[in-house]
Amino acid sequence: MNSTAQLHQLNPNAIALCALGRWVANRQWVPATGGNFSIRSGDNSALVTASGKEKGELSPQDLLPVSWQGQQLSCSGTPSAETALHAMLYQLNPATKAVLHTHSVQATVFSRLFTQDNYLFAGYEMQKAISGISSHEQLLPLAIFDNTQDIPALAAEVAQRWHKQPLQYGLLVRGHGLYVWGNSLEQAKRHLEGWEFLINCELERFKIAGLP
Ligand SMILES: [Zn+2]
Repeated sequence: MNSTAQLHQLNPNAIALCALGRWVANRQWVPATGGNFSIRSGDNSALVTASGKEKGELSPQDLLPVSWQGQQLSCSGTPSAETALHAMLYQLNPATKAVLHTHSVQATVFSRLFTQDNYLFAGYEMQKAISGISSHEQLLPLAIFDNTQDIPALAAEVAQRWHKQPLQYGLLVRGHGLYVWGNSLEQAKRHLEGWEFLINCELERFKIAGLP
């Protein structure tokens, strides 16, 4: 192993992201190698999961160093197909340290129930899991975007919406899954668990009370 590879193996951020991958996979939120994760490594760089890796079995060498200049990405391997959206989320907020993307059943189903580009959560204590929310009485919007295979176009759309109003540490891609981010890996994990919980609660409520 050369010294660069050794350094990468010992990178505590890489080790922590792999451990989080096992936690997420245990919850069935990243089936069939779906989803992708990243952690910031510099102003214009991050470690991103390689394409097609089982997220419950990641090791540090499955995380690829990616850097960007605007929309231009550079990476020596084949990073996840959705890397351009990760890079955009890091560029939109310099405080963002980690981005997690899941393909959970609940997020995928929930995103298909509405045609609007936003869903407002209200009345849940667990809304406080999302940074900046201090009361169940505060409205918490979750942005929804149409799915596309053109990830740079999706990233541009996210940026356009963000410039009108910054998104609340999460977004849904319709029929596809959930993206969350945070100012640390721990915060991103909390946002992931919070958003997945809130989505699940609404789905359970719809089963009893019907769609709004
Ligand atoms: Zn995806």
